[in-house]
Amino acid sequence: MANGYHGVILRIDLTTREIRKEAVANAFYRTYMGGGAVGAYYLLKETTGTTDPMDPANIITIAPSVTTGPAVTGVSRCSVVSLSPLTGAVGEGQAGGSIGPMIKRAGIDAIVITGRSAKPCYLYVSSENIELRDASMLQGQSVSETFDRLSDELGNTKLSIIQCGPAGEKQVRFASLMVDRNNVVGRTGLGAVFGSKNLRAVAVRGDGNIDFANPEQLKSFNKLAKERLETAGFPGILKKSGTPGVFAIQAKNGNTATHNFSRSYHQDYIQLDAETIEKTISSGKATCFGCIVACRKRVSATTPYQFNDKLGGPEFETLSLLGSNLDIMNAAAVGKANEMCNEFGLDTITTGAMASYVMESMEKGVLLAEQNGGKTLHFGSPEDLFDLIRKIATRTGIGDILADGFKHAINTFGKATEHYAIHAKGQGLPAHMAQVKPSQALMYATCPIGGDHMSAEHDWFLNENDDLCRGLGIFGSGDAASTNLAKARMTAYSQHYYSLLDTLTLCMFMWGPGSLFSYRDLEDLLLYTTGWQCTLWELMKVGERKTNMMKQINAKRGFSRTDDVLPERLYQPLPDGPAKGKCVDRERFAEMLGHYYNLMGWDPETGNPSAGKLVELGLDWVL
Ligand code: SF4
Repeated sequence: MANGYHGVILRIDLTTREIRKEAVANAFYRTYMGGGAVGAYYLLKETTGTTDPMDPANIITIAPSVTTGPAVTGVSRCSVVSLSPLTGAVGEGQAGGSIGPMIKRAGIDAIVITGRSAKPCYLYVSSENIELRDASMLQGQSVSETFDRLSDELGNTKLSIIQCGPAGEKQVRFASLMVDRNNVVGRTGLGAVFGSKNLRAVAVRGDGNIDFANPEQLKSFNKLAKERLETAGFPGILKKSGTPGVFAIQAKNGNTATHNFSRSYHQDYIQLDAETIEKTISSGKATCFGCIVACRKRVSATTPYQFNDKLGGPEFETLSLLGSNLDIMNAAAVGKANEMCNEFGLDTITTGAMASYVMESMEKGVLLAEQNGGKTLHFGSPEDLFDLIRKIATRTGIGDILADGFKHAINTFGKATEHYAIHAKGQGLPAHMAQVKPSQALMYATCPIGGDHMSAEHDWFLNENDDLCRGLGIFGSGDAASTNLAKARMTAYSQHYYSLLDTLTLCMFMWGPGSLFSYRDLEDLLLYTTGWQCTLWELMKVGERKTNMMKQINAKRGFSRTDDVLPERLYQPLPDGPAKGKCVDRERFAEMLGHYYNLMGWDPETGNPSAGKLVELGLDWVL
């Protein structure tokens, strides 16, 4: 029966250069479905509690899902999972574009890579041919140069490329993976895993077919999307302006990282909002495979800073972390810094958090100019930011220390700098302020991949008698600022749903609660792609399973409740703006954490999955 997947996982050992296709049973797909859950499965099965993320024994999995491949809005993302060189815990990120559909069209459900190549290489995959090729000519080349070079060599029809940039080659611990021209697997330093394996890129030609259970019905989703887009709120903003469209909304409500997270409101926020971007640097937009929304903005400028639109423009998070958080309120300056991060292959969030750590440590006199060749770096200076990005990406001077992450930097520069390092488990915090959003405080502290804003719904979601909220089994009430049991339950349950979206590699912008598609649409998507009559209950358990597998990987590696912590700064009241006085309340937060562990079925002492929870989710093999 046509079911949307091939039953084939590609295994690559870069040390032995072995390439083999592993046949996988149907039951595996029904249990794990794809994306982050497949990646977590291989890490749990085949790495130990002491495997170093940079060791050849680490595994990196590139996985779409059972629903990937049809030309439907928001179903084209792809997940990458590995042990994170940045946090030492499990790492995961997703990107859009076309890499997921191309992998499926090459006749493969996921690519699982281990080992280390003796020489720089890239992996080429098509339905006829899979081989490891020499990549020495790509060494030191920028992301767009590598993209152009491989496209010239391989022809660009039906081709998708995922690559680390020069920063990944240098094993910068927060290096990203870049997908095609507009998409980034930004978080947890997975570009450094590519670098540690001497793997510069994976190029996939998707020239085959995928047999779906009901291809005709799949076409109905984009018709629905078109109709609903007319009246949709958030998807409409994305279509018009991309994620920069929410910058002004968040900023004027006092929810945007400012001056190294010490404030949440910047009086000049208008300089980075969507209208300013449109007037000053916008140069068009792009989309992911099959998506009618096309939210990926492209930007270019010649003055005051020069950059082109070969790669994607700054997203909301980048505008905050490379903009307001550094007091750089100039769209062209952020556009330039964004281009530099993309061309080097650096996560803009952790790069921005690292830059504000250095600038504030220097401002407060706990990090001396001598550590940077005699030069002090200042907030508000684009040139200082550009200089720092270059040094980090090339591991030059102070950049060599910063490239190894916050923990290494604090050990080197001294404990006095720790207060200015705003991270969770070593990963720079996103722009949404935990002082304003208690759900995000919970997620930043507990998320298995470190501080992340896309792992659960935000506080607005807890609405009494709202079908969206009740539909996920959430009940109780509380306003946006509440920290009660209902809020903890909302966070935990919506985390299952978001984890499911990452498992099915669906776009949260389109498939998240209240967006273009409903919970019932999701059941239909499974039916039309795989033929399975899934219920929302089954699907929520799939999401919960993935979160538990990731938490269990961390438990195996020695992580526990003592690692589920927030930076001290978040407990201090915000000094000004619409959120003046708000902070994470220490006692209430501890209480909320307790509720959350109980709701998740995790041991409140250790914060790790209980044996009962693992058995309930069919993960008894982990024990
Ligand atoms: S909404 Fe944006 S990120 Fe999501 S699939 Fe469409 S283009 Fe890609």
